[in-house]
Amino acid sequence: MTKPTNAFAQKRFDALEAVLRAIEEAPAAEDDWDEIIAKARGLMAGYHARWANSGWNATAVGVTFHLPIINPATGRRSRTFTWAGRYGGLVERRGKRFLLVFKTVGEPIEEPDSPFWQRMAVDWQSSTYCLSQLQQDRPIDGILYDVLRRPAIRPRAIPKGSSGRSDRENVGTLMEIGRQGTYFGRPLDRPQRETALDGDHRETPDLYAIRVEADTRRRPDWYFQRRIVRRGRRQLAHDEAELWQTATEIRLARHGTSHWRNSASCHKHNRPCLFLPICSGNDTPRSSRWKPVTAIHPELGDALGDTDQRRVLTHSRMQCFKLCRRKHYYRYELAVAPVDRPPNRTLSLALVLHRALAVWWARQGKGNTATWRSPCSVRN
Ligand code: SF4
Repeated sequence: MTKPTNAFAQKRFDALEAVLRAIEEAPAAEDDWDEIIAKARGLMAGYHARWANSGWNATAVGVTFHLPIINPATGRRSRTFTWAGRYGGLVERRGKRFLLVFKTVGEPIEEPDSPFWQRMAVDWQSSTYCLSQLQQDRPIDGILYDVLRRPAIRPRAIPKGSSGRSDRENVGTLMEIGRQGTYFGRPLDRPQRETALDGDHRETPDLYAIRVEADTRRRPDWYFQRRIVRRGRRQLAHDEAELWQTATEIRLARHGTSHWRNSASCHKHNRPCLFLPICSGNDTPRSSRWKPVTAIHPELGDALGDTDQRRVLTHSRMQCFKLCRRKHYYRYELAVAPVDRPPNRTLSLALVLHRALAVWWARQGKGNTATWRSPCSVRN
């Protein structure tokens, strides 16, 4: 990174430094962790270049809520469940307040009428976040979606380049490293140069991160989009009714033990469901391959205190119920998980990026840093 020359540049420099530090400090989860971290570093460096001057102020980052579920027809609260969630934060610009939602995706996001943005227009998860603000008498003006597209490029063998070509044509080659001491224009120190030139000529994590960043600078709109989506009162009323109805159906399924299977969900996202061995009769939750889980909403950290987590609904839990009642039963009611859970690369990258985004946005507050909100408790 180039050293800053004034206070404003220093603030920007500090924000990126903090983001890269947060990425490096993320707890390692997988064998190819170096590649995931390098991808996140390259992507966030490009993100910073894209949005450093965007003019948004964050008033809260990492907002967690825990609220009663209200029957919209009677105004009564559920005696069985409460609901909870966590979202990116709250931001403002020109006197208007918006809910901040992070998304990391693997599909096109450039066109406003792409399937992704059409889905966001009806995204129930974000609607519930808006409802949580309304329930606390804090209406908002819309949702700011901050979307990053995952890089499709992987570490590669560095092309040789050619002495007959110009420096510009040799960008991203061994020839550039040997002649200029740079990779995609970014200066390399001596160990980085020597490793690249003397080794097997494959990109190290550092060089891969540089190429990811270079790619984001070449086509920022492919990687980064922000759009405001608004929710009307009518839609929110509809979504509130859906929240109540879903809670009712989960309660009835619990009492009626109607945990129906949905075999159409057994192989979603090109992965077999974790509970397939049990459902197919090849295993049982009582075997040594399964363990009880106490924190069934790990995404909420310790925000729920000593609340019985089986009595708390989150968006993930309600989606799980809609997808397959049996899966919901194993995961949230019986609360078991495989002893050896296979890693999920996509999820790991998303978690690292969301952590980095929270750090970045915390430095977009007025003054310098936004508040890290403590969780709301259930209101009586
Ligand atoms: S829990 Fe549902 S989705 Fe999972 S294997 Fe069983 S039927 Fe399929």
